[in-house]
Amino acid sequence: MASVEEIKKEINRLKKETDTTILAHAYQGQDVLEIADIVGDSYGLAVKAQNDPKENIIMCGVRFMAETCKILCPRKHVFLPNPMAGCPMAEQFTKKEVENFKKENPEYCVVAYVNTTAKLKTCADVCVTSSCAVEVCRNIENEKILFIPDPNLGSYVAEKVPEKQFQFIDGGCPYHARMRKENAQKVKEKYPNALLLVHPECPKEVVEMADFVGSTTEIMDYARKSDQKEFIIGTEISIVEHLQFECLDKQFIPLSNQLLCSDMKATTLMDIYHTLKKEAGEEIILDQDTMDQARHSLEEMIRLG
Ligand code: SF4
Repeated sequence: MASVEEIKKEINRLKKETDTTILAHAYQGQDVLEIADIVGDSYGLAVKAQNDPKENIIMCGVRFMAETCKILCPRKHVFLPNPMAGCPMAEQFTKKEVENFKKENPEYCVVAYVNTTAKLKTCADVCVTSSCAVEVCRNIENEKILFIPDPNLGSYVAEKVPEKQFQFIDGGCPYHARMRKENAQKVKEKYPNALLLVHPECPKEVVEMADFVGSTTEIMDYARKSDQKEFIIGTEISIVEHLQFECLDKQFIPLSNQLLCSDMKATTLMDIYHTLKKEAGEEIILDQDTMDQARHSLEEMIRLG
């Protein structure tokens, strides 16, 4: 039986042999992060992949992230090591539903969070990340915005852009959306000196209690730079572990143990190993029209943000 260290060594050898770069979303486990070449959030990873010289990419994350990578790097071979790793929020609407809404409400601009499938991106007018959503929505010419698929992030943006009229559809991230004020109160009582750092995918009642609200990358940067020593982390639980590894003199506490995304934890070292050996994993294949239309909504994000 091989040890974890031996598998990691073999993965590092195979990466070189197969001209492959491994990207890992920050919600992956520590073992995956340790063999990754680039770690970050979904859009940031896809952008960095564009400038990477390697021919093959393994995206350790969920399907929409691998699709975004393929859209921005159409000439590269992009692999999802565990094809079962999806995102329930990204897949909660069909393209047809959004197209029907657009037909009935042509005055609306459809804004899609980057956490959407490639197909949904093709019918969006513009994409947003959690860190640029406010700026992009402010700069949109239309007065009316349909914000998909996360009504929590959408409501957070709508408060900061009161001059626009927002419409949402029920849904959101099943993990962040289940957080409640009581979760925050309970942890704050136990750690009264800790700062509460929250992702805007959490409901308003939790966001309102936060000392800082931001994307995963922004939360991590804030905690690294802060002089404070204790932090309650209101986003996926792996961020607690990664920050703990990075900042040994600080303490990180999860807002709730329920903030654990099983899809983000689906990818294992063995999935990556077998993908490198071409024995498992799935190459992301998108037709040219889908890639072109979806890329247009990402380019609009750059133009407006
Ligand atoms: S944490 Fe939520 S938004 Fe992120 S991949 Fe999991 S289900 Fe999707």
